[in-house]
Amino acid sequence: MTDHHNEELIGLLDRIKEFLRTQVYPLESDFLRLPFRELTPQLNATREKVKARGLWAPHLPKAYGGQGFSLPEFARISEALGRTPLGHYLFNCQAPDIGNMEILMEYGTPEQKEAWLSPLVRGEVRSCFSMTEPDHAGSNPAWMDTQARKDGGDYVIDGRKWFTSAADGAAFAIVMAVTNPEAESPYARASQIIVPTNTPGFDRRRNISVMGEAGEDYASHSEIIYQNCRVPQKNLLGQEGKGFEIAQQRLGPGRIHHCMRWIGICERAFEMMCGHAATRLLAPGKPLGSRQIVQEWIAESRAEINASRLLVLQAAEKIEREGSRAAREEISIIKFYVANVLQKVLDRALQTHGALGMTDDLVLSHWYRHERAARIYDGPDEVHKSVVARIHLKKHGLGVSI
Ligand SMILES: Cc1cc2nc3c(=O)[nH]c(=O)nc-3n(C[C@H](O)[C@H](O)[C@H](O)COP(=O)(O)OP(=O)(O)OC[C@H]3O[C@@H](n4cnc5c(N)ncnc54)[C@H](O)[C@@H]3O)c2cc1C
Repeated sequence: MTDHHNEELIGLLDRIKEFLRTQVYPLESDFLRLPFRELTPQLNATREKVKARGLWAPHLPKAYGGQGFSLPEFARISEALGRTPLGHYLFNCQAPDIGNMEILMEYGTPEQKEAWLSPLVRGEVRSCFSMTEPDHAGSNPAWMDTQARKDGGDYVIDGRKWFTSAADGAAFAIVMAVTNPEAESPYARASQIIVPTNTPGFDRRRNISVMGEAGEDYASHSEIIYQNCRVPQKNLLGQEGKGFEIAQQRLGPGRIHHCMRWIGICERAFEMMCGHAATRLLAPGKPLGSRQIVQEWIAESRAEINASRLLVLQAAEKIEREGSRAAREEISIIKFYVANVLQKVLDRALQTHGALGMTDDLVLSHWYRHERAARIYDGPDEVHKSVVARIHLKKHGLGVSI
């Protein structure tokens, strides 16, 4: 292990945890009760405190207004922030903005950076990423209908997307659309295009109700119709036909961010589980934690969380050293492994709390609803398991396509 265990970082993590405990946990009961929009003034005030403490946008290099941490160092910070559903948002490193900042930084022209990256980094606007379509399997993202045809100096986009997270209230979308339908490789047909959400023909039809929540603002997943949606060609991000390459670039670190956030959730759920097991009495003098089955939940969870952290940090180090492509296997392993540990730990924590676990008085039920999707977004379990298995089968002479 390298620099993510240094004393300076450990001190910083302690400061972040203290900040969360004193300034952010107290906001959670309102967050669990009220629509996201109603919380905006409180959240903005807390974001200012994050800035004042020099903790803003910890994933970005200093030159872009961030804190200049390496990916493994940021992974540790992401874990700390994951302990509350508000952590990443308050530090301006929440999905999908974090991924959009990273690709704008890497592929944006100076003009695009000025127009879109800078306000995103300052926290003045939000963004979204619009790739998945209801009519095609998202797990095969090379197969899509949305087209962007050239007309004069513009692209004209037509298509239907859904599950564009955080589109409600976003200033712009980065849209995956086919620009080169004749390209031989299906992976060379699509491009990424920046589309301001106030462009005529950008029609955000609805926020999709998910797990009982209608969703709004940042906490939304939208269906969007692109109809005759015209943007200048200078809004192309990177090169034409390189949409997938850029998406892969985005997803490698993106999976580290998610996995570490999930480990933060696991740690908080674990603490709650142990705290409740130690104090809830089944009968006078008989705490729940005296039961061996509860002890098993605790021991299994502890081992799985520790294993997850080591796997994710190992993947983060490999990405940092050799890039996302070289770390393909490690990235796929953490994506399905940690997503499943998350489900197990949350489920055990809920079970330990009994009826209290079902209530919206605790953050556990929020996570239980929201994080089931962890096994689906950014590639379902089955796809990632298949990637890992194929790498090893190939070594034994068996080439299997998806
Ligand atoms: C909460 C949430 C947020 C999201 N946010 C965004 C976003 O911001 N932007 C965006 O573009 N998309 C987003 N998505 C979409 C997400 O990326 C897709 O849901 C995902 O890629 C899977 O695609 P699909 O839903 O079309 O499932 P499908 O591809 O139809 O697959 C259905 C199921 O089939 C199984 N399956 C698929 N492939 C295989 C295989 N090769 N072998 C075996 N089984 C397989 C899996 O169990 C899978 O769950 C989000 C999704 C969710 C749930």
